[in-house]
Amino acid sequence: MSQPLILIIEDEPPIRKLLRASLSDADYRINEASSGAEGIKLASVQPPDLVILDLGLPDIDGQEVIRRLREWLTSPIIILSARDQEQEKIDALDGGADDYVTKPFSVGELQARMRTALRHHQRASHEAATFALGELKVDYESRIVMLSGSPIHLTPLEYKLLITLIKHQGKVLTHRFLLKEVWGPHHTQENHYLRVFVANLRRKVEPDAARPRFIITEQSVGYRFAGS
Ligand code: CA
Repeated sequence: MSQPLILIIEDEPPIRKLLRASLSDADYRINEASSGAEGIKLASVQPPDLVILDLGLPDIDGQEVIRRLREWLTSPIIILSARDQEQEKIDALDGGADDYVTKPFSVGELQARMRTALRHHQRASHEAATFALGELKVDYESRIVMLSGSPIHLTPLEYKLLITLIKHQGKVLTHRFLLKEVWGPHHTQENHYLRVFVANLRRKVEPDAARPRFIITEQSVGYRFAGS
């Protein structure tokens, strides 16, 4: 595979410089834009394999950049958000971003998120009939879930929640997104449903429910199914 092309949309020159230096060392090809409009234009000229997007841009709002890119681009979008942008981060994930790092961020952390996002994006194009991660196996056709070789019983909603998490493996899913996908559009505010179901699901599918390895909590944002 040729080196993935990364589009960085960020208005702060020191952060662009840091990203350029560390990502070139890691063998990525890089395009840079210092505004939302420039980023959208550059993406259409040379479609990137992954976008790193700062939410606080001088011209177009980061949410609008996501919306415009998602009209045609399926590549992962990782957002850079400031610590006081909690709600914006959640809106960005709901709007189609895949993951986020909070500023100030570590380059190692960002690169790990990038590798996961790129790997899952590639894998998503080959739909499999079964899923396996560690001791957990799911056969989609028979709807049988096995843990360490033994079948486990899930209620239909628990199964739907598990499959939704697995389908977006590695991606942060907001409370709102999960409620909408599993319970439907009228239940998006009912976070307590989700908490109870996740706790029950963990007791069934996690080898140790006190230290979840599969269903990871993203504090005050949502949940993520662990990457493989
Ligand atoms: Ca900024």
